[in-house]
Amino acid sequence: MIKPTIEHITTELLDVPIKRPHQFSTTKVTSKSFVLVKVTLTNGTVGIGEGTTPGIWWNGESVETMKLVIDAYMTPLLQGGDPSEIEALMQIVDRRIRGNTFAKAAIEMALYDALGKTYHVPVHQLLGGQCQSRIPVRWALASGTREGDVDEAVKLVSSGRYTAFKTKSGKERPSEDARRNVYIAEGIKNHAALGIDPNGSWDRLTTMTWMDAFFEAGIEFLEQPLPPADIAGMAKLTAMKRVPVMADESMQSLHDALRIVQADAADIFSLKIHKSGGMKNTVKIAGIAEAAGISCFGGTSLESSIGTAAALHAYGSILNLDYGSELFGPDWLADDLVEDPLVMKDGCILVPDKPGLGVKLNEAKTAAYRRKET
Ligand SMILES: [Mg+2]
Repeated sequence: MIKPTIEHITTELLDVPIKRPHQFSTTKVTSKSFVLVKVTLTNGTVGIGEGTTPGIWWNGESVETMKLVIDAYMTPLLQGGDPSEIEALMQIVDRRIRGNTFAKAAIEMALYDALGKTYHVPVHQLLGGQCQSRIPVRWALASGTREGDVDEAVKLVSSGRYTAFKTKSGKERPSEDARRNVYIAEGIKNHAALGIDPNGSWDRLTTMTWMDAFFEAGIEFLEQPLPPADIAGMAKLTAMKRVPVMADESMQSLHDALRIVQADAADIFSLKIHKSGGMKNTVKIAGIAEAAGISCFGGTSLESSIGTAAALHAYGSILNLDYGSELFGPDWLADDLVEDPLVMKDGCILVPDKPGLGVKLNEAKTAAYRRKET
């Protein structure tokens, strides 16, 4: 068999509507933007990948910057390359382009999809093999009001769709925010579990003051309460041993993971394929966590079914995903970009088992949501 090489790479921007407005710490969104990457091999195989971010506030990248970086800088480095050497190719990219992990993850995703389709194996087989075939999913409550959040959680539990939740915080003053979260946790205590995610917007003193109340309210974990750089503060909170502390924005690269382990600054790592520059790096970070006795949580950048499938292959390949996931992106979007949507069952999402990412692009939908040039 003649080895295929990378023939060409294309990108396009898509804007997909969401079911209800979503309140983040700094912004409220009504649609979600994606950069869709297609890698075509000389054997005719097309791999698809997706780049997306909660917003430019999260780590400084946007779908527009991803498209530019992929088109102008990554594509020339990858054309003619051997897709069976993904990690070596990504090292070439890493050495010439600093940062831009979300754009790198989108490219890596399309390469793995193309390689899996060429070898007729699902991507989790290329990442070391499957450890789990279904992963629990947590829904993010972000209706904008505390009563609305309790209402939404209780309804979702009684419908049998979700049994675990997360709140997005950070819009109000930290103490008000903490009070709101205790209200929601108390409101759903007998129905479901709750984790809190202030996206780094709280301060040390407020967080410490509220730790006992969070424990009493049965809050399951506290995700990234402090600014990403405050590793020492995260270590103080972790040492309190009240509510497990999760690192998200503080823990993006393999080196971040090691630094947090050395500082005892988290009980749980939130994994995300985009922040870490791809699926392979995510699996490596889970290995650091495993060695340190740290649990993992399958985070999301609110991907569509394409990026969510990639996250499922990565998370499905690791052992210590003790806190399940928040892979609710496809359920949050008002429409799907694939012909064979991912399957949700009893609060879990199934890891795809068809070749590549295991999802087929719906070309008509892609065309409908393609960004109109202005
Ligand atoms: Mg987070």
